[in-house]
Amino acid sequence: MHRINCFRSVKIALNTITTEPRCSLCAARKIKPSSRFLEFTQRRKFYKYECSHCGLLYADSKAASRGATYFDGHEIRCSQADEVGFDIFTLKMIAIRDGLAIVPVDAAQERALACPHSDVPGHAYTTPLGEFPLASFTLGIMCRESELDRAVSSACDVLHEFAECLIVIDQEESWHQTFELPRGIRALGRPLAQNFAAQRNFIQQNSRSPWVMQLDADETISSLDVRKLRQLATSMQGHGIVSIGIPRENYVEGIRSDLYPDTQYRLNRSHVVFDGAVHERPLRPWQVSTIAIGCNITHHLDSAHVATRSYQYDKISPGLGRVSEREELAEPFVAS
Ligand SMILES: [Zn+2]
Repeated sequence: MHRINCFRSVKIALNTITTEPRCSLCAARKIKPSSRFLEFTQRRKFYKYECSHCGLLYADSKAASRGATYFDGHEIRCSQADEVGFDIFTLKMIAIRDGLAIVPVDAAQERALACPHSDVPGHAYTTPLGEFPLASFTLGIMCRESELDRAVSSACDVLHEFAECLIVIDQEESWHQTFELPRGIRALGRPLAQNFAAQRNFIQQNSRSPWVMQLDADETISSLDVRKLRQLATSMQGHGIVSIGIPRENYVEGIRSDLYPDTQYRLNRSHVVFDGAVHERPLRPWQVSTIAIGCNITHHLDSAHVATRSYQYDKISPGLGRVSEREELAEPFVAS
């Protein structure tokens, strides 16, 4: 049996919970008091804290500083003896982080996977994600005309992993490109009209692949991560997943921000619709989504943009601009 330290390099004392330590699985600063429990054969076990982002459970305030045994050859299993707990929905994210896909061990686990969060301790067999066929993705990028060169350059770096790339420019629909684009990239004009969801939906509707990954002109992703996501998407289809969140690293003037994982649900089946004029999100129950822990979108920001963007968003949708993000983005990254 392998003993895996699921907390990796994290040495956190949860008795300093008010400082919002990062979750040892997903890294979100979202560990909250919990009333959740898991039903083991012998007894019901309560957990005092949970991560509201990934659902990982912590037995007590010291749990984050200890290791946990849950990986045994080709299985991942939540153990009563361990100080972290998880149902199969969270177990799936542990598997993704480790480059694995899961198969529920029985019908009870199958049902628990479809109805998170369950009180059934997670238990699944695993197979390497690398054994799954590559799903077909469209890359969608929305941008201003002045950002087109940057968008094309980012697309070219990963184009070999996509069936096509569709760039939507904030322009009149009568806009026509007067220059040649690399093979596999097409550009269409559509006015943004201060509605980011509508622009994303235009990309969704015009894609030619079952899955669409959407990036902005100032975001990039590595080919390696796209390949992993293509295998992950194939492995997820049997579980009814239609929306995959990708953690986003923010860099302001090249310095990594503490605002992480800043998960963006940018990989969706093409029928999924976005909602929200700003900070748009796909409209679907969270139960049919998952988080691709281990993959990252990189967001390249300059300080002038950071200074103004939340206020601009707040003007479009009063109260929804997340003005506080400006301060969060300014904080340098701290791992724990
Ligand atoms: Zn978490």
